[in-house]
Amino acid sequence: MKPWNAPPGTGPRSWEFFPSLTAKKLPHGFSLRTSVIDRAPPLADLGIDPDRVVEAEQPHGDRIAFVEDAACRLYSGVDGLLTECRGVALKIRVADCAAVYLFDPEIPAIGLVHSGRRGSEARIVVKAIEGFRKRWSTPAERLIVQISPCIRPPHYEVDFARQIREQARSLGVRSLFDCGTCTACHLDRYFSYRAEKGKTGRMWAVAMLAP
Ligand SMILES: [Zn+2]
Repeated sequence: MKPWNAPPGTGPRSWEFFPSLTAKKLPHGFSLRTSVIDRAPPLADLGIDPDRVVEAEQPHGDRIAFVEDAACRLYSGVDGLLTECRGVALKIRVADCAAVYLFDPEIPAIGLVHSGRRGSEARIVVKAIEGFRKRWSTPAERLIVQISPCIRPPHYEVDFARQIREQARSLGVRSLFDCGTCTACHLDRYFSYRAEKGKTGRMWAVAMLAP
């Protein structure tokens, strides 16, 4: 894999990066709030080709799809995507729900999961970790799991980030990272569906294995 560094010049109003993934040189980003609703900063900032981005429909369920190439751009009926394809970016949209990044550096393979209240109740992160094990024999101890900013108590009555952490730990994940940030507490940086009563944009969570 080509070395990847969080690009210079990106910062507030563009992309947020997670040290757990930057340390492993995994191209990724979490878009910060922009003045235009639902227009994220350019994916090219991250070295991602916008024509090779694959999205999940995100019906708030617990289904995961394995992505084999960029031919299908939208996977219907799923809330999580896993792949070992290089140069194909995975994308999840959130505005209070958590995006969960998963990375097995040895295969290498990546995953992105949308886990809000309902997805966390349905244990979609468990299904994603099991997907890694079934497909690539990934032991949970080898996975890096990163939880994005999401809504948290006291702004929301359900602490689903905590549920996600507990689910990952119960399967043996050790490299577990939660940024701990609440979207509703930081409307200068993030969109929050609840704090803004539904009239808001979405952050994009993206990750890609470098080509
Ligand atoms: Zn808050």
